[in-house]
This record gives sequence, C-alpha cells and structure tokens, in this order.
Amino acid sequence: MKYISTRGQSPAQTFEQVLLTGLAPDGGLYVPESLPRFSQAQISAWAGLDYPALAHEVITPFVDGAIDSTTLRRLIDKSYAGFAHKAVAPLRQLAHNEWVLELYCGPTLAFKDFALQLLGNLLDHVLTRNNQKVVILGATSGDTGSAALEGCRHCENVDIFILHPHQRVSEVQRRQMTTVLGRNVHNIAVRGNFDDCQRIVKSAFGDQSFLPPGRQLVAVNSINWARIMAQIVYYFYAALALGAPHRQVSFSVPTGNFGDIYAGYLAMRMGLPVKQLIIATNSNDILHRFMSRNDYSQSALQQTLAPSMDIMVSSNFERYLFDLFERDGKALARFMTDPTQAARGVDPALWQQARQIFASARVSDDETCAVIREVYEQSQFLVDPHTAIGIKAARDCNADTAVPMITLATAHPVKFGDAVQRAGLDSPELPPHMRDLFEREERYAVLDNALGAVTDFVQRHL
Ligand SMILES: *Cc1c(COP(=O)(O)O)cnc(C)c1O
Repeated sequence: MKYISTRGQSPAQTFEQVLLTGLAPDGGLYVPESLPRFSQAQISAWAGLDYPALAHEVITPFVDGAIDSTTLRRLIDKSYAGFAHKAVAPLRQLAHNEWVLELYCGPTLAFKDFALQLLGNLLDHVLTRNNQKVVILGATSGDTGSAALEGCRHCENVDIFILHPHQRVSEVQRRQMTTVLGRNVHNIAVRGNFDDCQRIVKSAFGDQSFLPPGRQLVAVNSINWARIMAQIVYYFYAALALGAPHRQVSFSVPTGNFGDIYAGYLAMRMGLPVKQLIIATNSNDILHRFMSRNDYSQSALQQTLAPSMDIMVSSNFERYLFDLFERDGKALARFMTDPTQAARGVDPALWQQARQIFASARVSDDETCAVIREVYEQSQFLVDPHTAIGIKAARDCNADTAVPMITLATAHPVKFGDAVQRAGLDSPELPPHMRDLFEREERYAVLDNALGAVTDFVQRHL
C-alpha cells in the first residue's frame, strides 16, 4: 500500500517512510492511496476476537508487509498488555442504547495511549532493524506529550523532545511528562502558549539543518499516519461487541484535531455499518460551524474546561476534505491556504455530502459541568469534561434511538479534577501506578519562545 499527500505534489511513500516523518514536503498529510474494504462476512468472523487479535486484522493491510505478520502481532500484544482493563477498551452502558467506550485504561489515562504505545513499538522495531536513529519533536497541550513519552521512553534509537506551554498545562499533566526521566527524554516548557509551541515545531520540521547528518525528525502528533491507523481498531471493536455488522451503531466523538473521529470515518469506509458520526466540540467550534453553516473561518482560540480540544484549526480535517474534494490535491491546497475561500465554505453540493456523514454539536463549559453532574446522578459514573461533551452531543444529535449510540470516553476524570470540582463533585483518586506522582522528581528546561532556543537545546542534548 502506498501513501499519498493530500496536496498532491509529493511522491508516494511506503508505510515505513510515512511512519518516520511528519507532513509531506508539499505541506499535505499522508493518506493511503486506497482503503482496504472488508466484507460483512469478514467483519462477522471477527466477533469475539480479543483486542490485540482484532487490531492485527485491521492493521495488517495498512502495514502491507513492511513488518512480518508474527512480529506485528508481537508488537501489538506488547502495546496493549499494560492496559489496566483486560478488555483494553471496555464498554459501559449508561441507559438503553446509550454506551460509553472507555479509552483511558492505558498508562497515561487518555485515548492517546492507543496510538502512541503502538507507535513507540513500531518505531523501535523499524529503527533497530535499520540501525537508524531519529529525533522526535512534538508540542503538547497536555495529553499527547505524556502518551508519547510513555510510548517512546524505551526506544533506544529515539531522542524525544516534548514542548509544552510553560505554566499552562494542569499539574497532573505536567508531572506525567516531567517525571519521565530516561536519558533520551527531554521536556521543554516554552514561555508562550500552545500555538507558539506548535509554530516552533513546525519551523523545525521545515528546516532540519540543525540536526547532525543522518538524523531526521519524526512527528508524534496525529499528522503521523500510524496514529490514525491504530485508532480505527476500537471502532470495529465496540461495534462488534454491540452486534455489528448485523446491526448499525453510531459514535459521538469529542473532537479537537479530528484525528479520532477521522479514524471512525475510515472504519465506516472500510465496511463498518455506522449510522451517525457526531463531532462534539467545545466553544472552539470551527467544525460545528462548518457542519451547520458551511463556515470554515478561523476565530480566536478560547480556553475551556476541555483543554485537549482547545484547537483552532483541526489538522486532520484536511484528510477528510481530501476525500470530499474527490482527491483533487490542487483544489484542496487552494482551499487550505486561502482564508477568503475558507470563509465562503465549500461548494454547497459537497457540503451536503459532508452533512450526510457527520452531525455536530457545540457544548459550552456550563453545559459540560451540568452533564458531568447529570451523568453522575443518573449512573454513578464520573466522566471527564471531554467525555461529557461527547455525551451531550450524542444526546442532542441522536437521529435514531433504536441504534446503539457509543460515546468515546477519551480521558480519565482524574486528569481534569478542576472541572469535576466545578461540577460540584469530588475529584477522584489517582490510580495505583500514579499514587506517588506528586512526590516524584521532575526534570524539565524552561526556554524562551524562540525557534533558536529550542534547536540549540536539541543540538546540545543529542
Ligand atoms: C486529544 C484529545 C481529544 C481530541 O482528539 P482529536 O483526535 O484531536 O480530535 C479529546 N479528548 C481528549 C481527552 C484528548 O486527549
């Protein structure tokens, strides 16, 4: 299977090549040239498989022989062995046809572990095989950083540098990163905000001449294709558990960068019968404005109770738009780079097509708190603010109550104690493997908000 750029101006790449890079040289994102399609009979035959076995089935066509089947299975097993629940992704029922998929049983308590545990093991295998060393450079507003560090700390051939905005992540989130102390692990607090961190990372990817010869940067945010690939699996897993493919299911997905819900869209395109895909957003609602009004203009970033979704422009939406634009990379490049076009929206016929696949809702901070409280009162189940947004959107947009509706629970509420308290509930205790988080030694550098400060730091620490 080859991977092509959404902007159509870069050569096709292999799985291994897209694993070891970031954006395509033309500024686009890599997507498979064609998607595997599974028949209803094939999907039915997967009923009852455990998570790693199903992951092996779903992922194999994308890896396309770059890693032999036995080794791939071993890497998958290793990636999910450390999850705290035997089901890896357990389903919990809230009410008739109302379900929550708990995706926070991994080491850092957010769904990002699903992709980053596997990404770390894939990288480790491929780099050892190639006798190659790489540098991971990433920016985080919270959850990606810790999941990437946990996933890659054991990779001998990786030096990992994670930027976070100084004093703008929660204390739990910061400590989850800065208490990872490996020789190859480097945390950097940038005196700036998350956008500043992202800008620095993007510039560094654009000009990698500061690296020693033979080294290259690898992305760990969801522009990395392997992350999307890993996330497709749990859509199949949850749907199979509720009777697919003989029955349709719907999903509501708390959305920031559009990586998670894009994986759900791919699962549907690959043959999973999905009735509704609901984009749940906080007040940073560009995707909801697009779906409801065909308005894709940027507005100022707002800080909300769901910080992992405080994103102005969702990078993975470009992967969906590429399909919507019938894979016309040039037209897409024009749309993505011309703000006046974005404000006018897309062709109305295309917009209608998008609305047939995605529903959307925007949820305010007050509504988020109300839902946290309501779900707790109804079901004695404590949800984090991101999940609460998903549940609210599911309830608001549900088009057919005869179809099971599954909200993706993207983080454990302990990571967002402030929101839980604002909802009038006690924030939960840290799980056993994190009990001593507040006593552990922290290590991180505080750097100026400047590309040079970061590239100098990387050079000195390789
Ligand atoms: C990253 C994240 C999201 C958003 O996922 P995207 O793939 O960026 O849309 C939602 N909730 C939590 C808890 C997250 O960490």
